[in-house]
Amino acid sequence: MSHYDYDLFVMGGGSGGVRAARRTAALGRKVAIAEEFRMGGTCVIRGCVPKKLLVYASKFSEEFEDAAGYGWSVGETRFDWATLIAAKDAEIQRLEDIYTRNLEKAGAEILKTRAVLEGPHAVRLLETDTVVTAERILIAVGGRANPFADMPGAEHCITSNEAFHLKRLPERIVILGGGYIAVEFANIFHGLGAHVTLVYRGKKILAGFDDDLRDGVSAAMQRKGIDIRCEDTLVEVRQKADCRFEAVLKGGDRLDADEVMLAVGRKPNTEDLGCEKAGVTLDHLGAIEVDDYSRTSAPSVWALGDVTNRLQLTPVAIHEAMCFVDTEFLGKPTKPDLETVPTAVFSQPEIGTTGLTECEAGERFRTVEVYTARFRPMRNILAGRDEQMITKLVVDGESRKVVGAHILGPDAGELAQVLGICVKAGLTKDDFDRTMALHPTAAEELVTMYTPSYILRDGAVEDA
Ligand code: NDP
Repeated sequence: MSHYDYDLFVMGGGSGGVRAARRTAALGRKVAIAEEFRMGGTCVIRGCVPKKLLVYASKFSEEFEDAAGYGWSVGETRFDWATLIAAKDAEIQRLEDIYTRNLEKAGAEILKTRAVLEGPHAVRLLETDTVVTAERILIAVGGRANPFADMPGAEHCITSNEAFHLKRLPERIVILGGGYIAVEFANIFHGLGAHVTLVYRGKKILAGFDDDLRDGVSAAMQRKGIDIRCEDTLVEVRQKADCRFEAVLKGGDRLDADEVMLAVGRKPNTEDLGCEKAGVTLDHLGAIEVDDYSRTSAPSVWALGDVTNRLQLTPVAIHEAMCFVDTEFLGKPTKPDLETVPTAVFSQPEIGTTGLTECEAGERFRTVEVYTARFRPMRNILAGRDEQMITKLVVDGESRKVVGAHILGPDAGELAQVLGICVKAGLTKDDFDRTMALHPTAAEELVTMYTPSYILRDGAVEDA
């Protein structure tokens, strides 16, 4: 019988923390999970889930337009922000309740409080100012939006947190950043009727993604009317009398806006967490340092999800939690496998990607075959929508394995999930070639790109 209050104390009720708590409690272990805000964490409460609901809402404007080409008269349309936000809030509440119920059913004790480390086996519950002990402690407290506090006027700006709860839809919004959140919200606000300016410091939005997809999504967004300003940044946001704010750009432009949104990355929630009291080391970004098994520098403390500096994705946190439970409570040492993680940017058009970009493949393999198809998906033709789809496969020329797959276009995220299985399984280009096309679909291009568009040999481009 352990002399600790709990076998496992989980700090943070997000995707990773909840999965670890539920699974361990279901094994009959004594588990507590502390959450200071709402059960579900970033993904459910103020991230992936509400974002996707807003993405669905924002797509209708184009669908109404496209319907005309198919003979429909849609008539006058009107969008009501308050209705959307109320419906979204109700759904988030439903999901939060499910998370809570599942934890209770598994037998975990839920503590509605902020918890901080007090020692390698001790946690202070701030609500009651009591200290409890645990044999193992798991830190899964996630991250938060970078407040960009050094910029004058940052206090006038919103982040994705507030974007989900605005009183009204802004007529004009300026968004700073060129990553997932900036690009997704630029499309959401544009689709719902706002005038959007996206300001990004780099040459091309969505650093790290395939270059053709970056160019393609950027061109499509600009054609829709989203004003993308690359190689520029915000230096100040001022409050004005006649309109709400003025965003001052480094290049000298001043933009009037009802809202200015910052989407410049996220920071791990390690401030005042007591890491030093437990001997838990942080890296230069303030993230908790972990080894391959999510172990921190303190032998009784583990960390996973966005509080560590790995991939900031919900399924990754859940996978890390599963591996933690396998290792620590089921006697099956398992390292999280973070190779070829599929991911999507829910832009319009969407990006779905898995495995290596051609540049990454070029660094890893001597010969890389790149197969690319660009075409107008059938749905866009009668709609009169001049938007291209891109499918791209990156193949190691020696083993013939498909090491990367990149899609721009409708349902690219759904395709990336399935392509993720193919790349993970190490399927070869020949496996793709001998797979029958499914006609008429856009995805059939993935099995009908018979000749390479070009070859990378020792990093240099050669004609196929
Ligand atoms: P990202 O890291 O994707 O993007 C941050 C952006 O901010 C980059 O464009 C970056 O520019 C820019 N930036 C950073 N610092 C500054 C600065 N000082 N001045 C100007 N610009 C700056 O972060 P997000 O906040 O968009 O998202 C956080 C994470 O959440 C993502 O990395 C992703 O893992 C996850 N996420 C996943 C989603 C999905 O799966 N669909 C959706 C939303 C988030 P630069 O490129 O030059 O560094």
